Formats: sequence, C-alpha cells, structure tokens
Amino acid sequence: MTDTRIVGLTIVPSTAHVLTDAELAFSPASGRITYLGPVRGPMGDGDIDGTGRVAIPGLVNAHTHSAMTLLRGYSDDVPLQTWLTHVRAFELRLTASDIRAGLRLALAEMLRSGTTGFVDMFQWDSSLLALVSESGLRVSAAPAVFGYDAVAFPMADPTPGADILTRTATLAAEFAGDPLIGLAYGLHAPYTCPPEMIADVASRRADDGIGVHIHLSETRFEVEESLRVHGVTPIRLVADLGLLDGRTHVAHAVHPLDGDIELLCRPGVTVSHNPVSNLKLGAGIAPVPSYLAAGVRLGLGTDSVASNNTLDMFEEIKTGTLVQRGLAADPSVIAGAQLLHMATAGGAPAVDPSLSGVLAVGEPADLVLLDVTGTTALPFTDPGSFLVYAARGTDVIDVFIAGRQVVADGVVTTIDEAAARADVAERSLRIRRELSSG
Ligand SMILES: [Zn+2]
Repeated sequence: MTDTRIVGLTIVPSTAHVLTDAELAFSPASGRITYLGPVRGPMGDGDIDGTGRVAIPGLVNAHTHSAMTLLRGYSDDVPLQTWLTHVRAFELRLTASDIRAGLRLALAEMLRSGTTGFVDMFQWDSSLLALVSESGLRVSAAPAVFGYDAVAFPMADPTPGADILTRTATLAAEFAGDPLIGLAYGLHAPYTCPPEMIADVASRRADDGIGVHIHLSETRFEVEESLRVHGVTPIRLVADLGLLDGRTHVAHAVHPLDGDIELLCRPGVTVSHNPVSNLKLGAGIAPVPSYLAAGVRLGLGTDSVASNNTLDMFEEIKTGTLVQRGLAADPSVIAGAQLLHMATAGGAPAVDPSLSGVLAVGEPADLVLLDVTGTTALPFTDPGSFLVYAARGTDVIDVFIAGRQVVADGVVTTIDEAAARADVAERSLRIRRELSSG
C-alpha cells in the first residue's frame, strides 16, 4: 500500500516549530508518519489537498468521565457539595445502555473536536472498550472504584470495588493486543478509597505494571479533611502508601501544600490540569506556572461535561492560559504554547507511555487538520496564535489516528453521530423526569 500524502499545508509538529507550504505523508499499513518536510512534487491519485489547513498532533484529553454526556447542563449553578449530590443521584439511575449511549456521543464529540486520545475514569467493561476501539480513539480507561464493597453504578453494574480491581487486570490482558486500548486502576480518591486499598493497588501495580488514575487535592475542603483525618495532604498520603512509586496519573492537584509539588515530580507521575472544570465548580486554580517550573509532567483535561460542559480541548487551552494571567496580573506568567504542549505532548504519555504527542517521522499518524480559511482564522499569520486564542473544536476538518481517517470533511466516519445525539437526548430526558418526579 502506498503512502498517503497531505500536500500544501502548514504543519505545527510540536510547539517548537512551524513548517509552511509543507507535506506530511504516512503509511496506512503501519499507521506511522513517513515524511514531514517541503512538498516533494505534484499531487497524485489518493493524495489530500492540504491548502488552507494547519496540521497539529492529535489532542489528548488527560482527564474525563466521558460517558457522562447525559448530564450535560444538569445542575450547572449550585455549590460543589450540592452538585456532587445531584450528579450522584443521576449516576445511580444510569443503566448499562445509558452509559453506552453516553460514551458513544462523547466519542463522536471528541473526534469532531480533534481529540485522538483520552484518559477516562468511569464504568468500563469489555463491550465499552470495544466501542472505543471501533471509534478509532485511543484510551487509557480506569474502571472506577470507591472502596472494596462500594458499588459505583448499581443499575449498570452490581460489581463491588474489590472485584472491579480484579476485572481491571482481566481487561488489561484481554485488550493487550489492541494498541489503542490501555487500562489503569481507577481509584476514585483518598476520601472514598481507604488507605489499605490504595496500598493494595500500589502493590498490584508493582506486580502487573498496570497504571493508576486517581483524583487528588481537587478542593481545599478535601485537603483540610485529609489533614484532619490522616495528618497529611492527599498527595503525601498516597505517596506514603507507595502510589507515586510507579505510573500514576493524578487528576486536578489544585491545592498542593509544602512538599506536594516535589512528590508530583516523581518519574512515573503525570498530572491532568482541568481549568474549566475547576473554575466552573469553584474548586480553585492550580499553580500551573509553579508546576511547570518544578518539572511536573502536565496534561490538560476537560473533566466530565457535568462540570464543563463540552469536551472541546481548545477551550481548555485558551482558558488555562488566560486564568493564570488574570490570577498573576501578569501576561508573562505563562505562554499559550505551554498549554498547547500540555494538550498534546504533555498528556500523551498518560494515554500510552510510548506516545510522544508530536508529529515526526516514525511516530504514529495521530494528526488533526483545522480549516484556517474561516473568519476567525484570518489573517492567518501566526499558527500558534490561532491555535491558542481563536481555534475551536468546530474548526477541525479532518482527523487521523494511527493513520486511520476518523473525521473526514467535518464528519465522523466511525460513529453515526445523529443517532448518538438522539439516543442521548431521549435517555437524558427520561432520567431527568424520574429525578424530578421524586
Ligand atoms: Zn474527574
């Protein structure tokens, strides 16, 4: 099979440089990039015209609960504790087919807006992972546990946490041959999972090498409670239990105290910064400039649409840049390119440690083409400026993952998006009616 060439486009292979009037080629057989550089000649049959397009590495959503699309716009403007109660009541009514429908719409939304890989904690089983595989997206999926006996989604899956941990290892073995699918132990948080369970997961990980995904220090209340109950911060607590000695992906880390930042710099640790969710829930603003200065490996995530309300990574890039500048009253405190890096190369290892998140010969052809001929892209003089401050998910026109085209001319090729929308709308209304009737 001959290579696919995309000809005449602007390429931002990483945040370090830009190629104009360039060509990118990849092998559909290997799914890897074979050429990146000046245009090598006229277009041939099967080549793609890249004029008016900018190509970037696929975006990585480093923290989400994607199947929660049924909860979009539910309980938007209430205090955090009320929000948690509302969301939990809704989740308790989700059936297995509701979760499947929610995931299907989320996959379509992520693909449409240029996300090629995501790190997710929710209810996960073999058939949901197969749905991701069919969609063409990459995932690191963490089946959520809230304690050994706790049942996270009783209508959908009556399995207690102890058995979910065993299932996580079984699923990892089942999907070991699928390069798009990875598993992680999904410890919800130290305030739901007891210390012995956190130590248990650290020791399982030492045996089987499966990574871990956990929420840490999202709110000030959570940190204060940890200090009151355990005498240490949530980050210090899990470090003392061995959880930061291997591959662990931390969501939020909004409120680090003394010593926490050094712990997050440990070699296997990655952190997802989720600015829109943190702002919407009033959780606070993570000290991103301090994290970057210390060398914390940061990705960028949306969290679920219940606290966002979209899965559009371009919103995170822009908001994440602006909020730090407003907080510091200093525009030099962070560069937009640093957020773009977090949204690509920064988060990529959290999906799969072998991913670089940059476009280069030999790397997987995970790439996104955006239309740069529209009103908000013009004049198109600085690709970095467009990508950070003006681009939206709706500017995405083509998406390839491992060389497979999953969005073509703005249409998702692997999912019936209209059917997915209608299904979620109907199911979400049913649950909202059930909840309002008591
Ligand atoms: Zn979360």
